[in-house]
Amino acid sequence: MIGIVAVSHSARLGEAALELALQMVQGGGVRVRVAAGAGADADGTPILGTDAVAVAAAIDELAADCDGVLVLMDLGSAVLSAELALELRLSDVPVRLAPAPFVEGLLAAVVSAAAGGSLDLVAAEASAALGAKTGQLGVPEADSMPGEAVSTGRHPDAVTRVVVVRNPLGIHARPAALIAEASVGADVRLRRLPDGPDASAASLSRMLILGAAQGDEVELSASGVGSEAVLERVAALFDDGFGEGTASPPAPAGQAAPNAAERASEVAPVLAGTVLRGRGVSGGRVAAPVVLLGPPVGEPDPDVVVAAADREREVSAIEWASVAVADQLRGRTARATGQARAILDASRLLASDPELVGDASLRVRTKGLSAARAVWETAVAHEQGLTALGGRMAERAADIRDIRDRLIAEILGIDVPGVPDRDEPFALIAPDLAPADAAALDGGNCVALVTERGGPTSHTAIIARSLGIPAVVGVAGATGIVPGVTALVDGDRGTVEIAPDAETVAAAEAAAVAVPFRGEGLLADGRRIALLANVGGAADAVTAVASGAEGVGLFRTEFCFLDRVDAPSIDEQVAAYRGVFAAFRGRRVVVRTLDAGSDKPLPFANADAEDNPALGIRGLRISRRSPALLDDQLHALARAAEAESAIVEVMAPMVATVDEARAFAESARAAGLMTVGIMVETPSAALLASEMLEVVDFVSIGTNDLAQYALAADRLLAELGELNDPWQPAVLRLIGAVGEAGRRWDLPVGVCGEAAADPALAPVLVGLGVTSLSMTPRALGRVAAALAAVTEAQCVAAAKAVLTAATAADTRAAASEALATGTAAGIAAGTAEGTAEGTAEGTADGPVV
Ligand code: PEP
Ligand code: MG
Repeated sequence: MIGIVAVSHSARLGEAALELALQMVQGGGVRVRVAAGAGADADGTPILGTDAVAVAAAIDELAADCDGVLVLMDLGSAVLSAELALELRLSDVPVRLAPAPFVEGLLAAVVSAAAGGSLDLVAAEASAALGAKTGQLGVPEADSMPGEAVSTGRHPDAVTRVVVVRNPLGIHARPAALIAEASVGADVRLRRLPDGPDASAASLSRMLILGAAQGDEVELSASGVGSEAVLERVAALFDDGFGEGTASPPAPAGQAAPNAAERASEVAPVLAGTVLRGRGVSGGRVAAPVVLLGPPVGEPDPDVVVAAADREREVSAIEWASVAVADQLRGRTARATGQARAILDASRLLASDPELVGDASLRVRTKGLSAARAVWETAVAHEQGLTALGGRMAERAADIRDIRDRLIAEILGIDVPGVPDRDEPFALIAPDLAPADAAALDGGNCVALVTERGGPTSHTAIIARSLGIPAVVGVAGATGIVPGVTALVDGDRGTVEIAPDAETVAAAEAAAVAVPFRGEGLLADGRRIALLANVGGAADAVTAVASGAEGVGLFRTEFCFLDRVDAPSIDEQVAAYRGVFAAFRGRRVVVRTLDAGSDKPLPFANADAEDNPALGIRGLRISRRSPALLDDQLHALARAAEAESAIVEVMAPMVATVDEARAFAESARAAGLMTVGIMVETPSAALLASEMLEVVDFVSIGTNDLAQYALAADRLLAELGELNDPWQPAVLRLIGAVGEAGRRWDLPVGVCGEAAADPALAPVLVGLGVTSLSMTPRALGRVAAALAAVTEAQCVAAAKAVLTAATAADTRAAASEALATGTAAGIAAGTAEGTAEGTAEGTADGPVV
């Protein structure tokens, strides 16, 4: 008997690989030791690494009752440890270090050792173990089979028999291991007919290379004593489908999902004329007929208990589904591009995740669950784990649900849920969009997205923005919209209007025509209002430059690191920031320090769950707990600014007190960033704007949060959408107070929340004292056009009008009236009472009224 030592950096990897390998030799009898990991730290957390002493001890232990020992290693220092172990060991049994792939090699070696192979043979089997994979992927066999240690060709006296492969998955690792086990004692060979390759039954890897699929004929030959009986045993395995059943696809157990009609009847219908509200996560307005996402599969019956004899059939149904779903996703990946491709690729990996498939198979084997039910329960367990992590990890739970549904649909032979194919443009409505669904939109005819769930960092939001189509998430009851009806999806306002009248549709279509921006924000009277872009990274910056943005008014730095578990190093940060600065040579870039927390938690910045995250440790407040995070960022920004020629300014989010503003300004200036500002997002900052401007150089109003905090209305809550509206008079009065402070100190006041992108509101903001507007680049042309149509006096009149209005409807009406009429009285009053004598931007860049 040959013993095997598996050396790995990770104890979990070593144990898992061994578990997988032992599945191949159900009869057992193989001697394997795992020497993995480098102990544990004080908290009991395993330390990755390898330990030569442990490897030597494992060899010595096996040496007591083995004729030889094969050592398999994962990588790097595992090889060094194994070599050192040869020096340290006390026994003198022959030992071979195998240059074999760790997992495949271990499987092949275990099977070969169980079949009584010599050390040479077991080592050769392990080393050739990549053959099946490389063969399947098209690598020439010469590259993949570094040696042939088993005999080739049928013996002239061999007895033969032709069998048919009956199991759905063909000869994969488990059947091959069964054949090897049944062949012990005879020289058994297999040949795929009519002219396929030939393999020894002692070689797991050779048998896998046969590529024998369901329905293929295989010639078995055996020579030696008892060869008839051996052949009989092997043929019986084929006839039985290796215990995996013989149906194709495998017969499902469990219960089919309710159909679409049944599900539709559970949803309240949405009537024509209704306007649903949610959170706009990707701008633009589009009217298109509604298509509902294919429904998810229903929960499979938990009470079905599969008989012990049928459980392997269910397990193979899971494996089969995993392969099929991964294949479907691979096909779609090939057609997708950019982020969609990356997301599909991740979903494909999840579909064939051995942990998911292994967990589900275990539930079948131990509890007798049906394949569908086992997949369901496994997914629930994984999903709960992610949900418990909260924040963005919780949003990833949709990935698991998506793969669960695809696997179950495959097992039950029902329609795959997801995005339907359509030849005409459509607005897709869904409870939530799984990453693979969202990614499937790339290249299709979907022109707008609406979901009932999802947040600003959900895949829906990311994909919609990258596709440039409007999207609204958090729209309660959206799936009640009748398929085929026209919906007007407004990603800027976060609304979905059902069956709008022809006039509204025509206006939306007209608005959908891009309005070019000529790169300069000007009022009709020539006053300059800088029109800037909001960006989240280098790619956005390139788009912003192409759209003509005069600079960047809000660089949301947290967007560069949303996927990071550990804080980015200073070097990594410098690289990310330089990407944006480089796009805006010689132009202004206002960088916001990390605004982590609340709706954008970053694992490395927001460790604890909070009862009220929007009121908790977010934005600048993170530096209370982790001052180094802010210091590192400021230093990285200073280095990046030094290396590029953009005019870099820095501002802090979520400032509430003058002390916070002062401390931030001191830190920023100490790091070498001389133009420092704060965001006005809290009512406190707005009311203290004048005092704030005594300690900083500019302010920028974040109207999204200012509305949320002024009206005490969660900005993520679709139901409170009408409160989160910058047209609310309280919000406009706060903006007015900030504008006044800016005028008093003759310092810039920007707006970088969504309000800046509203063409109707832009003149009002200017009238209130705002000197620059920063927005999604797509909105620049429209806002520029709206400003070009009015004089500063008209803006001031509109501002004066909104400041006396009592409701959001009144402010809208008052502004549009003031701007439309531009009455002499209004203009005169505005000029006398509110017009700026000049602003920093106005005096620097253009004439001032
Ligand atoms: C805002 O609050 O208006 C803002 C611009 O910041 P964010 O949307 O990133 O919170
Ligand atoms: Mg904000």
